[in-house]
Amino acid sequence: MVERVVIVGAGPAGVRAAQTLAAAGLRPTLLDEAPATGGQIYRRQPAPFRRPYKTLYGFDAAKARQVHTAFDGLDGAVDHRARTLVWSLEGQRLCLMHEGGTENLSFDRLILATGAMDRVIPLPGWTLPGVYTLGGAQVALKHQACAIGERTCFVGSSPLLPYVAYQYARAGAGVAGIIDTTPRADKLRALPDLLAAAGTGAKGLYYMGWLASRGLRYRHAGIPIRIEGESHVTGVVVRMAGGRERHIACDAVAIGYGLKCEHQLADLAGCDFRFDSSNRQWVVAQDGVGRTSVAGIYVAGDGAVIRGADAAELAGERAALTVLEDIGRPVDRARVQKIDRRIAGIDRFRRGLETAFAYPHHLARDMADHVILCRCEAVTAGEVRHAVTQLGAHDINRAKAFCRVGMGRCQGRVCGPAAAEVIAGALQRPIEAAGRLRGQAPIKPVPISALADAAADLTVAA
Ligand SMILES: Cc1cc2nc3c(=O)[nH]c(=O)nc-3n(C[C@H](O)[C@H](O)[C@H](O)COP(=O)(O)OP(=O)(O)OC[C@H]3O[C@@H](n4cnc5c(N)ncnc54)[C@H](O)[C@@H]3O)c2cc1C
Repeated sequence: MVERVVIVGAGPAGVRAAQTLAAAGLRPTLLDEAPATGGQIYRRQPAPFRRPYKTLYGFDAAKARQVHTAFDGLDGAVDHRARTLVWSLEGQRLCLMHEGGTENLSFDRLILATGAMDRVIPLPGWTLPGVYTLGGAQVALKHQACAIGERTCFVGSSPLLPYVAYQYARAGAGVAGIIDTTPRADKLRALPDLLAAAGTGAKGLYYMGWLASRGLRYRHAGIPIRIEGESHVTGVVVRMAGGRERHIACDAVAIGYGLKCEHQLADLAGCDFRFDSSNRQWVVAQDGVGRTSVAGIYVAGDGAVIRGADAAELAGERAALTVLEDIGRPVDRARVQKIDRRIAGIDRFRRGLETAFAYPHHLARDMADHVILCRCEAVTAGEVRHAVTQLGAHDINRAKAFCRVGMGRCQGRVCGPAAAEVIAGALQRPIEAAGRLRGQAPIKPVPISALADAAADLTVAA
């Protein structure tokens, strides 16, 4: 019997997984809510834009072209369904939404290559119009060819910080300031590990140098205090390394503290999770080659471990080879060993990045009581602390039940990491003790009609 293999996510990981399965004679189904393959980093521009690869992807132009060409060459060998959101998973069946309509799709094996999203730490003023995540600011530029403001201030701790600021400046958009919360000393401490992928590290140095040569100073150890404005952003107040407060006038703020795995479908599938203390987040437990604790469910790419696009390509191919092994197909052992060695090298670089762009969790833990922590439900940090200290919430799921933190449209995808830090702080316990927000369907907002259709399908099936 031919196995039905479904891949969710058509970024570098999903595309390489599909290519590997197709090369073995399977016809996988590749689902993505985006209009085209490429994922976050190699996101394709929509018509009528025709910017050259070099303009869009810079140093990564050749890699972007290779991933795009690899997919385009598969013509017919993969059942690619674009603009298709997977919003739930029940047993061996996925609930899909495509152009407003719902459909169910069953699978024998499932590769989840769902990528990552920005991690944010709320601060006063972060809900004002004009505040974006770093990744969101980049999507606006890459996809829609527009900047989020005329003078943008970039704040956070992330490899994307110098890169997106550089992309904005190169595109002619105003850069009001670049504030990295990590001290310069941490960058130096990370050097030995960063040398494991010296080429990638050199790109970061180039961006900082390029910015400096245009008078755009990259400042370390700055702490954002508040974003100012009445109906729109007018500035950011930052405490600089020496303790002095500085007001930076701007009309937009891009903020980001690294990435967090998108793993809600693995959660609905019942996969085990483990806590990754190196970047303070829960990740899907896996055997290192893609197998999760649930038979037939595999993970690859940034949705499994945040390691960047090169590792995502390799992990996608590796997970597909694992699927082939599991269904008794022959695999190239030499290729398998080469992939495993290359991923190990990238893991060392990733450790360096986590030191160089450390997650300043104390900013979340020390958040003032009046700050809106969960913007979907307008829950403040103080209300979350009250749920812990006065109502007895001992983890994030109880706190959600008591005060609705993480219960809104984003299902905690945005506020969850910071909420966990606030709860752990109130409990005076390590972050792991705050637990992990349980996934709930729909994992992303869908029209109520989609739920009604799905319920009707279930009734008919019963
Ligand atoms: C906004 C953003 C911008 C980034 N920019 C850069 C950059 O410029 N340079 C860099 O080196 N790294 C960048 N990164 C990191 C980089 O994108 C990743 O390392 C790399 O793309 C990981 O590849 P992937 O295939 O694992 O996931 P992704 O490339 O993220 O692809 C995952 C895909 O899964 C799809 N998906 C997720 N959930 C569902 C669902 N439920 N239903 C249907 N489809 C779904 C998404 O639409 C997406 O296309 C960025 C990350 C983000 C979040």
